[in-house]
Amino acid sequence: MLNYGRQSINDEDIEAVAAVLRGDWLTTGPAVTAFERDVADTAGVAEPAVSVTSGTAALHTAYAGLGVGPGDEVITTPLTFFATATCAMWQGAKIVFADVSEDTGNLDPQAVEAAITGNTKVIAGVDYAGHPIDAPALGKLAHDNGALLLEDAAHSIGGTLDGVPVGSLADVTTFSFFPTKNLTTAEGGAVVGTDPEVLERARMFKSIGYTRDPERLRNPQGQGGWYYEVHELGLNYRLPDVLAALGSNQLKRLADFKKRRAEVTARYNEGFAGIDALRTPAQREGADPMWHLYPLRILDGRRRELFDHLRANEIGAQVNYIPVHHQPIFAELGWRQGQFPVAEAYSSGEISLPMFAGLTDGDVDRVIELVRDFVSG
Ligand SMILES: *Cc1c(COP(=O)(O)O)cnc(C)c1O
Repeated sequence: MLNYGRQSINDEDIEAVAAVLRGDWLTTGPAVTAFERDVADTAGVAEPAVSVTSGTAALHTAYAGLGVGPGDEVITTPLTFFATATCAMWQGAKIVFADVSEDTGNLDPQAVEAAITGNTKVIAGVDYAGHPIDAPALGKLAHDNGALLLEDAAHSIGGTLDGVPVGSLADVTTFSFFPTKNLTTAEGGAVVGTDPEVLERARMFKSIGYTRDPERLRNPQGQGGWYYEVHELGLNYRLPDVLAALGSNQLKRLADFKKRRAEVTARYNEGFAGIDALRTPAQREGADPMWHLYPLRILDGRRRELFDHLRANEIGAQVNYIPVHHQPIFAELGWRQGQFPVAEAYSSGEISLPMFAGLTDGDVDRVIELVRDFVSG
């Protein structure tokens, strides 16, 4: 089975992990510190990243760092993995969906503007398939309305917009290092941002809410070296050194991954050019995406049949995503089908073809041929 995504692990990755296993620190050690610096460098930010155990944990930690709480509204896209929304709900926020742009599938600034209220705390965009959000427009909308921009960059570490790296485009950016993503730590994620206070709160949150930092202790008088204080509610979302070491080595390979993913995208685009029933992914001027997915759209209403045809031929296609507001948990809150027609139309025709760095040209050509035969048959 040729899956829609898959990790790339080489001997150096394995050696990096083995070296940590032979050392003193399995967790909370130097490999974590190094990885947090490496992620920050990739993202183009000064403050070290806050590493966590998944992209979901990164979202939860980011919302906590941003101080999201009851009474706050978070505007987000229906065309995402649902954790972008549910992690804000863990902090007590109300989710407000806004529709996407027809070309990229990313949050549409005009739709966001219409959804803003006095309670809007965060606008949470998603770099769908790896294409960066319109961060300049969304950031301005957020800041003009006393809110902040969060970029869920689970798909897009290594991408740029107008030469600015993903990670430096929004107030806070989250990454996922799940095996199907652009680089992996097995499970893992990270939060980067520009405001040291937000990051400090995020770091506290993912470290169970306690601190030993002498500058932060409130009642250190007469206490010894064992002393710590619990200041806030937190969770243990710490990424272990074993996995951080894998992440640092994977980051060294990120440019190669990006190059191959761009080649695969170009090969698919060429293979599907000029076929009326198919729509290939758009790329806006100024965007240099790190393509995580290849989201083909089939416009003749036969997505289900194409999906089954590919599966029958050992091609593990995927659908990204079922509109989040269609999920029962959101239907119970009053969201209805038909409320976000652009996202719903995008989703109903979308099929994610195999896309990962280890794909051969032969693999890609086989998928192209299967799809072409299907639409012409
Ligand atoms: C994968 C993904 C997440 C969650 O990341 P995990 O590491 O799987 O927890 C969040 N948002 C988006 C857009 C994703 O694709």
